[in-house]
Amino acid sequence: MTQNYLPPRIHVLAKPTGAICNLACSYCFFLDKELLYPGSRFRMSDEVLESYIRQLVKAHRNPQVTVAWQGGEPTLMGINFYRRAIELQEKYRKPGMKFENTIQTNGTLLDDEWCQFFKENNFLIRISIDGPRELHDSYRVDKGGQGTFERVMRGLRLLQKHGVDYNVLTTINRTNAEYPLEVYRFLRDEAKTSWIQFIPVVERINEGGRTLYQEGTRASNRSVLPEQLGSFLTCIFDEWVRNDVGRIFVQTFEASARSWLGLPSSGMCVFEETCGVGLALEHNGDLYSCDHFVEPDYLLGNIIEKEISELAASDRQYRFGQDKSDTLPQVCRECDVLFACRGECPKNRFLTTPAGEPGLNYLCEGWKAFFHHIDFPMQIIAGLMRMGYPASEVMRVLTLEDNLSRAGRNDRILFKLSGKFLLSTQFAFCLIR
Ligand code: SF4
Ligand code: SF4
Repeated sequence: MTQNYLPPRIHVLAKPTGAICNLACSYCFFLDKELLYPGSRFRMSDEVLESYIRQLVKAHRNPQVTVAWQGGEPTLMGINFYRRAIELQEKYRKPGMKFENTIQTNGTLLDDEWCQFFKENNFLIRISIDGPRELHDSYRVDKGGQGTFERVMRGLRLLQKHGVDYNVLTTINRTNAEYPLEVYRFLRDEAKTSWIQFIPVVERINEGGRTLYQEGTRASNRSVLPEQLGSFLTCIFDEWVRNDVGRIFVQTFEASARSWLGLPSSGMCVFEETCGVGLALEHNGDLYSCDHFVEPDYLLGNIIEKEISELAASDRQYRFGQDKSDTLPQVCRECDVLFACRGECPKNRFLTTPAGEPGLNYLCEGWKAFFHHIDFPMQIIAGLMRMGYPASEVMRVLTLEDNLSRAGRNDRILFKLSGKFLLSTQFAFCLIR
């Protein structure tokens, strides 16, 4: 069946250097992707860049356009590549259109010139850091095997010095998963970020021990264990929900709150019902279904030959998107946290259910534990927000609950919430019913 359906918004992650990086983080699934383009120089040409910007503008039906740069390490392209990208955005801008450029970087190549450029052009920088030095350096190393913590922190300080907007991207791996509070407090207090994206490391081992494709039923020994994921996130959640709501944004928690509120989108692709709106553009113009599926079976075409809008609206991409919900195993369909989890990312669905059905998510146990753990506070947050209170009021409700439970009391007491007196325990329960 031909859908020819262009989603209202698409998101393209452009990889101007392909998988090429100046570092060699041991868990990085991108590094093997070099093998997909033997002999390539891995540099996006001006022709591809101009086609990309022109088509991205054309494919957008709303005035806000995000231009997302990723790698490998995108700063290896040099600053002039991004100056040209800004020029092209001006050239093709429709009236009223606003661009936001984001760049995901390991931060090690940043200097004053880069940071001035980012500031002048309102770039949002996503910097990869895995926690304090010993945890960061366990996997995030350079090609000589040396830790990169110092160099990343130097880059981070430069961003701060120039007042550039940044947030952090932190993997949850087999090592740092054992130290949730150390990681969280470091990001909050030392890296001084107010926006954190956690990404669980799940590397599937292919034939020959590589991690080139999303194939194989074994995870590497750097991959986070499902139970580690659950305890890592619940531990951080407990700290966040009592101290930091409204001032530190943890993407997973924000997405969960949206799910508990019953909003149509969680804002995170892994927790959406379907996939398909986030595509990946390789240095030579090849467009893939998703950044996690840069492999031949998911190549949609090349943007020099076909427009992004046509490729994004293709039957093939539509099928890729729908498969996420169509292939859910029965245990997920019957799961009480399906509304929040949605079976998570298809790339991690390589286990078999107890009934022998394929497609169970490797991280299932961790996600289930996390979503069960946050149910009560999330119901309070959703209730508060529905009543027009800020989510941060949950901290006062929980403090009161904690005090009551310490005192062994479960009777009604009055407390003040945003200027109004309400009943505590009763209040919390009436919000969640
Ligand atoms: S495959 Fe995974 S990463 Fe890609 S869009 Fe779907 S959920 Fe997101
Ligand atoms: S928690 Fe497990 S069973 Fe439930 S939806 Fe997620 S992956 Fe499926």
